[in-house]
Order: sequence, then C-alpha cells, then structure tokens
Amino acid sequence: MDCLFCKISSGDIPAKIVREGEHTVAFRDINPQAPVHVLVIPRTHYADLGELSADPVVLAAVAAEAAEVAKAEGVDGTGYRVVFNTGSNAGQTVFHVHAHVLGGRGLNWPPG
Ligand code: IMP
Repeated sequence: MDCLFCKISSGDIPAKIVREGEHTVAFRDINPQAPVHVLVIPRTHYADLGELSADPVVLAAVAAEAAEVAKAEGVDGTGYRVVFNTGSNAGQTVFHVHAHVLGGRGLNWPPG
C-alpha cells in the first residue's frame, strides 16, 4: 500500500522518532504547530478514527502512548491537546490515522 505513515512505521522513510512500542510509533510532525507536536500512529494501517475504533486494543495503545509522549516531552504538567483530524472538514490530509499531541504553549479554544 502506498501510505506515507506505513513507510515511516517500517523505517522506509525517515522520521524523527520519539518513541516506539509494540503497537505504535511516535514521531515529530514535519511542520510543527506548537513547541511540542508529535504524531502517534498505529503500526497497523487504519485510515481514520472510525476504522481504528474497530480495534480496541490498538485504539487504547494509541491513546496511552499519546499520554506517555506528553509525559516524556514534559508537557503533562502544563497541559496538552490530543487531536484526531477525521475527514475533509477537519482537514485530515494523511489517511493513516494519527493522534496529534500538541503542547508547550497556550492552545486556543475553540480550534479553527
Ligand atoms: P492531518 O492534517 O491531521 O492529516 O495531519 C497530517 C500531519 O502529518 C500534518 O501535521 C503534517 O505536517 C504531517 N506530516 C506530513 N508528512 C510528514 C512526514 O513525512 N513526517 C512527519 N510529519 C508529516
């Protein structure tokens, strides 16, 4: 399958890896929107959150890993945001589900 994030997961395309687990890979976003901007992906290809939700073990692993990334990046105390952009209205551009972990600055609400 021609999927950018599958290729990052397999190591075929380089990325700034932050953490790796049995089910997940976490790497720095190439175009960071905050001082901390890490993407957490499942190793298995699911296009979006709807597909991922059919695999509760991996869904839980992605959520737990997002929290671990926030801790490792030192933003768990000050606060952070976890975002799954899903579909065109939300601006999803890569159709391998990913959790954005954003922190290190004040984050506006509601988001744009
Ligand atoms: P989306 O808009 O929610 O689908 O987010 C896709 C994210 O992937 C964007 O924040 C991009 O900056 C990021 N991105 C795209 N290509 C790469 C890459 O090769 N390495 C790391 N991040 C990437």
